[in-house]
Formats: sequence, structure tokens, C-alpha cells
Amino acid sequence: MTINRKCKGCGSPLGNSAGAWCVECNKNAALRNLRESRDRAIVTAINILTKYRVTVRPARPSDNREVKVLPDGNKWCCLHGDNLQVGIAGFGDTPEAACLAFDNAWSIDAAELDTAKGE
Ligand SMILES: [Zn+2]
Repeated sequence: MTINRKCKGCGSPLGNSAGAWCVECNKNAALRNLRESRDRAIVTAINILTKYRVTVRPARPSDNREVKVLPDGNKWCCLHGDNLQVGIAGFGDTPEAACLAFDNAWSIDAAELDTAKGE
């Protein structure tokens, strides 16, 4: 005698397979679990980063989202603006060093810049 069991998810007949879910619903549930655990991991990472920023160090100019960190020859360049001519930039051996140089450049005032050009 065949028992007409149906999948709890989609209602399709299960035949002789064990369990309450069909193969397709099992697969979907596994994928959903995977996605959810990945999303949780991302949220945790964001929370850790946010906490790090708030508690360990104050915001720096290079935290600005419009800053680009790019390789430039054998250096890294941290750039704000369209290019080096019109933008503000810092250079360093590492992206971190480039961003620190950028942070310093950010606080140079125009008068100092004129003095440097005059040399
Ligand atoms: Zn199903």
C-alpha cells in the first residue's frame, strides 16, 4: 500500500523518499541557509568595522568614500578628485601609507602650497 505523502514545501508527491520535503525544496532550504549565514557574517563584519572606527580612532579625511586608492608606478596613490592636477593626493608604499600621506595633504592650506611652489 502506497502512502500519498506530499512535500511540506511545494505539495508535490514524495513517493517513497524519506523526509517531509522534496529534493528541490531541500536544495532551496540549503541555499537559503547558506545565504542567511553569509548575510549574518557580512553584518557581523560591518559591526566590527564600525565599532573599530568609532572606538579605536577618530575619522580621518581618507575615510571619505570619494577617495580612490590606486597603484601608481611602484607606489600607491590615494586620490580625491578626478586626477592629480585638480585633486588632492597622497603617495606611499602601501595603501595605508598613501592614505596617511593623503590625510596630511588634506590639511595643507593654500598659502603653504604657494610657498612650496615658489621653491
Ligand atoms: Zn517541495
